[in-house]
Amino acid sequence: MPIYEYSCPGCDVYEVIRGMGAAPAEDACPTCGQPARRRISAPHLARTGTAAFQLIDSTERSASEPRVVSGGLPSPGRGATPTYTTNPLHQKLPRP
Ligand SMILES: [Zn+2]
Repeated sequence: MPIYEYSCPGCDVYEVIRGMGAAPAEDACPTCGQPARRRISAPHLARTGTAAFQLIDSTERSASEPRVVSGGLPSPGRGATPTYTTNPLHQKLPRP
């Protein structure tokens, strides 16, 4: 989804992710509520391929198009899940 920039006269520039063509010319500022005008800016094409942008896009898409999970639930009572890595940072990675 494209990122639109709005300029609030009382605050600053903020970004909103909306559907293509779904951004109005004026929007209420999320901070102060004043009408903010949409800015014309260069597209951020370099951001579309990044992992962060793909995560944001898939998260927003899952709100309206959830992925269907196939297969059964994991069987309880089989003990702890096997450990594939010892790096504690891997525990923070998103699960499928
Ligand atoms: Zn504002």
